[in-house]
Amino acid sequence: MASGKRVGRGASEFYDLLCLMMIGVCGWLAGIQLGAFRTLDTIMIDHGLTELVMLGCFVGLGAIVASLHKSLRLRRALRERDSAEAQALSVTRHDALTGLANRRCFVEGVDAGFRREAEKTATVLLIDLDRFKPINDLYGHAAGDMVLCTVAERLKQVLPPGSLAARLGGDEFAAMLPPLAGREAIARVAQGVIAALSAPISWQKSELKIGATIGIALAGESVSGAEAALHAADLAMYQGKKDGRGTFRFFENAMGEELRARALLESELRGAILAGQIEPFYQPVVSLPGRELIGFEVLARWLHPERGVLLPSEFIPIAEETGMIGELSYDLLRQACRDAAAWPSHLQLALNVAPQQFQDHWFAEQILAVLNETGFPAHRLEIEITESALIQDLEATRATLTSLQNLGVRIALDDFGTGYSSLYHLRELKFDKLKIDRSYVNSITMSDERAKLVDAIIKLGSSLGLVMTAEGIETSGSLDWLEGQGCDFGQGYLFGKPMSKPEADMYVEGGAPEASDGAAAGRAAA
Ligand code: C2E
Ligand code: CA
Ligand code: CA
Repeated sequence: MASGKRVGRGASEFYDLLCLMMIGVCGWLAGIQLGAFRTLDTIMIDHGLTELVMLGCFVGLGAIVASLHKSLRLRRALRERDSAEAQALSVTRHDALTGLANRRCFVEGVDAGFRREAEKTATVLLIDLDRFKPINDLYGHAAGDMVLCTVAERLKQVLPPGSLAARLGGDEFAAMLPPLAGREAIARVAQGVIAALSAPISWQKSELKIGATIGIALAGESVSGAEAALHAADLAMYQGKKDGRGTFRFFENAMGEELRARALLESELRGAILAGQIEPFYQPVVSLPGRELIGFEVLARWLHPERGVLLPSEFIPIAEETGMIGELSYDLLRQACRDAAAWPSHLQLALNVAPQQFQDHWFAEQILAVLNETGFPAHRLEIEITESALIQDLEATRATLTSLQNLGVRIALDDFGTGYSSLYHLRELKFDKLKIDRSYVNSITMSDERAKLVDAIIKLGSSLGLVMTAEGIETSGSLDWLEGQGCDFGQGYLFGKPMSKPEADMYVEGGAPEASDGAAAGRAAA
């Protein structure tokens, strides 16, 4: 645009010069025709004015050169202004870190693309990085920036010519593809992007690994306009994340429905917490090899008036995302402490807490407030956290962990073996207990490799002075093996499924039953 203006201005200057020259030529012709120059010649020779005319000519020449110089300077200044304008425009339209288009530029580009390709296939890809945050947290922002720049470079290489790539913010990228032949071709591009972004990235002496999940929206398929396309691609991406990351999904209308259902559940959950519809269920934990009941893990259940008993997977993520998890969790602990008041005083309670709760500076105080309110002793309480709680802010985690342990509360690392850097966290933080994830426990009797791995975990835990619980024990085969390996505690359907308070009361009265593969069915409550 700026260069167009410049060409126009140059042409008009040239036109002005031509006009002036034409006027001069016309004056000269008229002078010849009227014989004015002859008279002028005679006068000049008669009066000896030739030197004066020469002087005038040189002065005129000087004036012309001066004006030419001025005009050149003016043009240079204009050029500089135009380029500064273009640069300013580029800054407002590009991401400063990666140099890709920014959101504004992308939206304009997509809107223009949709207008051009109205009846064809204009395609928007929303690319969300997987596992980027842990890299930022563990290796620092310089590593994070380098990863983002590498992603931008790889996107440029792998996207077909004519694509528009953008960074929308954080670890979210987008691309508009040129018209391609059908969904298969688009799917191939998406697979290419995922493969390119999943390749390791070298940083100092480490190899960093991220991944990508992609949502795809096509123009014409109930989507028109950039914002609508981005929203649709976002829904598809969200679905991809739910289905297991590192994958891509095309937008479908049903995804919008699902989101509406989620919004409804979210508003119902608010009311449910206030109405006390979220109740603690209890799953027995037994000592090994004695198989005696030592306490219960508290597991949240939503007793929904229309939909029956809802499992944590259906509402805990919503509570976490909307910030309701704190309120839900303290309420659950309050109920559990009251329920446990009537049980023998050696029985313990284990409470699951969400990662962001552990980052809350007031978390330990809030727990203490509930313990004081219900009179439940701190040494009977255990808090279970998963590794995702640790990667957010190690220092905040350490502070909460120490405050809780100072109160006498024990801390267990849950789902051990499923996180991405378990050993690092075991070195950095002082836990009391490890809970071996049930994905390992289930496969002990199926694979020798798995059995060796669980054996190694148990040895590692005991060498660090940690107590070990095996989760998800379903068969007496696994149980016998775990007892043989010296695992301290066991939990699983073999001893009992999560159960309501009245069922837990009965369980406490009856003591831990003789373990059998059928025990789960008898005690199943949820
Ligand atoms: P988790 O902490 O790993 O809890 C154990 C889960 O495994 C429970 O699922 C339990 O029912 C299930 N389980 C136990 N034994 C067996 C077994 O032998 N076989 C099989 N297949 N499953 C077994 P549940 O109750 O659906 O809870 C799922 C997850 O939801 C929990 O995993 C925990 O991470 C989370 N959760 C539950 N209650 C709360 C809560 O109050 N707050 C938070 N933040 N998370 C919670
Ligand atoms: Ca747990
Ligand atoms: Ca677990």
